[in-house]
Parts: sequence; structure tokens; C-alpha cells
Amino acid sequence: MKNELFNLIDKLEKEQSLTLGEYQKLIENYDSELSLYSAEKARKAAEKYYGKKVYVRGLIEISNFCKNDCYYCGIRKSNKSCQRYRLTKEDILACCKEGYALGFRTFVMQGGEDAYYSDEILCDIIREIKSLYPDCAVTLSLGERTKESYQALYNAGADRYLLRHETATKEHYEKLHPHALSFDERMRCLRDLKDIGYQVGCGFMVGSPYQTAEHLARDLKFIEEFSPHMCGIGPFITHKDTPFAGEKSGSADLTVFLLSLIRLIKPNILLPATTALGTIDGKGRERGVLAGANVVMPNLSPLSVRKKYMLYDNKIATGQESAQCVEELKGRMKDIGYEVAISRGDAK
Ligand code: SAH
Repeated sequence: MKNELFNLIDKLEKEQSLTLGEYQKLIENYDSELSLYSAEKARKAAEKYYGKKVYVRGLIEISNFCKNDCYYCGIRKSNKSCQRYRLTKEDILACCKEGYALGFRTFVMQGGEDAYYSDEILCDIIREIKSLYPDCAVTLSLGERTKESYQALYNAGADRYLLRHETATKEHYEKLHPHALSFDERMRCLRDLKDIGYQVGCGFMVGSPYQTAEHLARDLKFIEEFSPHMCGIGPFITHKDTPFAGEKSGSADLTVFLLSLIRLIKPNILLPATTALGTIDGKGRERGVLAGANVVMPNLSPLSVRKKYMLYDNKIATGQESAQCVEELKGRMKDIGYEVAISRGDAK
């Protein structure tokens, strides 16, 4: 068995593809030795394209109003204890200004699905950022919109869009979301984003309620087939004011192992070591980079709203100024032999 697993990693490295059954076997039987073996190969693969550089994205959490009620998410509509906020254009531009001075060349605007941000309002903000900082990329992560809306935002200058698929298994999707949200619609959005020409990021939570190894195998197969430019994965973390408050959080070990598998599937993919991974494990982001991740996304949101964008309990860096987050991260990366790059950080 043990040899068989190592052989599967070798095969994945060579062919960038395994069968669903093979992925499942790896997920069900991995141990720390296999994980280290995979991490070493994944790190080499990342290095071939990106050297020992880590790209940074400045994350601006523009709103925690959301019309959706995802069972796992702390900013879901029904959470009455969530104090809602939204940033104005001026707030967002101030974050970009600070971020630019700190070396960021990508700004990610993320938020709940907040109807206040019409195409008109967003296009105006995107155009302004692109005209003030033509050397920067604008990434959006604002959930599901119509194809026309995605097209308008793209025409205004948005370069990338992050929309996690959350799970590639329809039955599982339906256990994580209420009826109003559909797996098919999520997939429609991802296809539209790609057709329009965005650099697209998908992704999923590790250890979300009801998730099985077979589901995760399907997530890996989906990444093979959809071939996104980016993929964001992090452990599911319980939030006390959601229907999943009593569920167990996901594991850092499995997340790190999956990062390596994803790197081996798509050697040039943009792969973040996420905030959720850094939250569940104090050295999570370092472990992620050492397992093949090449992106980190420090928070550029104004300090006054940090604690309000609580997707899950105990999210890190909610009490830190942006500059502090960046300095800390640079130090952490340096300690493991990596350097934070001042660059738009497009996929190679
Ligand atoms: N509204 C946007 C942005 C969502 S927040 C959208 O729909 O894409 C970004 C990601 O945070 C989500 O896609 C989800 O995968 C993750 N997330 C939400 N709640 C979480 C939790 N409790 N634990 C870990 N990750 C969570």
C-alpha cells in the first residue's frame, strides 16, 4: 500500500492527472511521510515557474452585507449578530493608495452579495483604480452575477475573478447551501467568467460538513478539467452564529496535502496559502508555501471593519494595520527562504 501511494504521487507528477479512484485512495490513506514527499515535489514544480517568490494580493473586504444564507458563512443574511458595513469608493481608493505604497500590485475586492454595488458603481470604482494604478491588476470576488454584469466589469478593467466552486459534487453543494442557491448556477458563473476572458479562480473548503474523500477527489478532477488560473482552498472553520456552529473544523494537514496535489496537477497555477489555513494553524501559511502555494493575501481593509468581516471564528489579523500585516508576512516568508515579490503576479 505504502509504495502504491508514493507511486501515485510520482505518476501525478509525470502525467498531471489521476483517476478519481486514485485521488480518493491518496486522500484516504495519506500520512505525514507521504505529505512531505508530495510537498517536496510540489515545491520543485512551483519553483520551476515562480522561483522562490511569493506573490501578494491586497485584500479589500468591501462589504459584509449579503443576500445569501450559506450555512457555513459568518456573514450570511440570517446572522443577526453580524454588524453590517460597506466601504465607499473613497474608502476603497484609500486602501489602494496605502496598498500601493506597501508594494501591492494586485487589489482584490471581496464581499458578500450586496445589491448596493450595481454595475455602474463597481465599474466606476474599477476604472478609477485602473487609471490611478495602471500597473496593477484588479481582482473581484463578489459572488454570482449575470454574464452581462461580469462582462461590464471586465470591460471596465477588472482582470481576475475569484469564485470558489465550494464543492464539485451537486448533492454536497445542496447540503452546504439553501435552495435559493444552485450548483448549476455556480458552474454557469465560472464558465461565463472564463468565456469572457477573466483569469479565473475556483476553490473549495477542506473538511466542510458532510464532505467525503470522494467529494474531494471530484474537486481535484474538476480542477484538472476546468483548468482555472487560480485555486483557493482553506480549511472549513466553524462560525458560532451559523447552522454549522456545532460542526468540526477542517484539518490543516489535509489542506496542506491537497495544496501539493493541486500544484502537481497544474504546475503553473496561482495557489494561495489562505487566511483560513493561517487561522487554524499558526504556521499554516508557511506550511502552505512549503507545500507548493505561491500566493498570500494580506488584509488591506480599514482596521475599523476588520472584525466585522468574520467569515469564521478567530480569523487572524483582525486587529492589525495593513502595514503590520505585510511586514509580518514578509518576515514569515523570509524565515522559510521565500521573498515577497512586488509584481502583478500573473500566472506564468
Ligand atoms: N460572496 C463571495 C465571497 C465569499 S467569501 C462569493 O460568493 O464568492 C470567500 C470564501 O470564504 C467563500 O467562497 C468560502 O469558501 C470561504 N468561507 C466562507 N465561510 C467559511 C468558513 N466558515 N470557513 C472557511 N471558509 C469559509
